[in-house]
Amino acid sequence: MRQAGPWLRAAEGAMLLGPDGIPAPTVFAEMSALAASTGAINLGQGFPDQDGPAEVLEAAVRAIRDGVNQYPPGRGTADLRTAVAEHQQRWYGLDVDPDREVLVTAGATEALAATLLALVEPGDEVITFEPFYDAYGALVRLAGGTHVTVPLTAPDFLPDEDTLRAAFTDRTRVVLVNTPHNPTGRVLPDEVLRTIVELATRYDAVIVTDEVYEHLTFTVPHTPIATLPGAAERTVSISSAGKTFSTTGWKIGWLTAPPTLVDAITTVKQYLTFVNGAPFQPAVAVGLRLPDAVFAGIAAELAAKHELLASGLRSAGFDVMRPDGGYFVIADTAPLGYDDARAFCLELPALAGVVGVPVSAFVRPDHAAGYRSLVRFAFCKRRSVLEDAAERLARLHAPS
Ligand SMILES: *Cc1c(COP(=O)(O)O)cnc(C)c1O
Repeated sequence: MRQAGPWLRAAEGAMLLGPDGIPAPTVFAEMSALAASTGAINLGQGFPDQDGPAEVLEAAVRAIRDGVNQYPPGRGTADLRTAVAEHQQRWYGLDVDPDREVLVTAGATEALAATLLALVEPGDEVITFEPFYDAYGALVRLAGGTHVTVPLTAPDFLPDEDTLRAAFTDRTRVVLVNTPHNPTGRVLPDEVLRTIVELATRYDAVIVTDEVYEHLTFTVPHTPIATLPGAAERTVSISSAGKTFSTTGWKIGWLTAPPTLVDAITTVKQYLTFVNGAPFQPAVAVGLRLPDAVFAGIAAELAAKHELLASGLRSAGFDVMRPDGGYFVIADTAPLGYDDARAFCLELPALAGVVGVPVSAFVRPDHAAGYRSLVRFAFCKRRSVLEDAAERLARLHAPS
């Protein structure tokens, strides 16, 4: 049987094609398998090991018992779309029409997929920063687009303005922003966001912004790019309940955008999943309406977890980059005498009983040089797990 097909482009876009042209398993799967076979603490994959707010979980149980178990409306339940609109108003002062400007999706992933498949024609260029979330590369290529990247380089992971300007061309269809950023944890400063809006306007590109970590910032507040002058009319803002409420398995996400964009994206979305997660939609509406203090508490707890892991990494001898938000911290293995983070990650379970992922997994092979010694560790884990991991990592520094 013929093997070729768009899936090969997706694998290539996510950097899964080996030198032999055969798709390899993702580095996340590889490292998780290594954690499972060695009993190492898995700080590779970014999912929480603790439940989120009890009110949210209870609301889902109640909805199932109350019979909310059939297909919900195509754009999401009216109540969740209203809760999303209220959330955008309460936190950011954005006016969003729940009937025409909100679409509920199967996680942020489906929002990204439906948006790119709806907007990108073969040959169109899509700009992202690099390192990038692996789905971006896969989806851009699946849509037939050309992926153009702008590097964020250590130690501050900010883009060079001239490089950002040079990335835009008449073929730019979408600029895909992610702030707070995975894997670096950088919150993009307002001046970078302003430059993006200026360039997107000049080249008539759509801004797609992945803000799944919007509530998980530690030091600087998150600015949604849609709040900047001239941005809202050309911006698709994407978020998800998974990261904020520790419900990554529910896959409830949403997007807000002007009505014509929502209509276009809905046209694709209805043939991807049609709908999903009926009983989880009212539960996420409960979550979005929780008091400000609950959101602040979630961020503060995560900031404390970051401190716990970062101080462990520092005492083990890593150079640690301070994230502004999100689930991850990047550590440089160079001070420990390593220059290949992938080889280091393969050895780490035996050396210290911990698993991380090399940042090169988020970078195209031909751009990997600047990221060679960097490892990403997740700190969205129970404090006891992070304390254990910090103690184990301290062995790296112990005289042998
Ligand atoms: C986790 C993550 C997603 C996926 O969100 P889902 O709601 O689980 O689909 C998208 N973007 C980034 C940057 C993420 O870290």
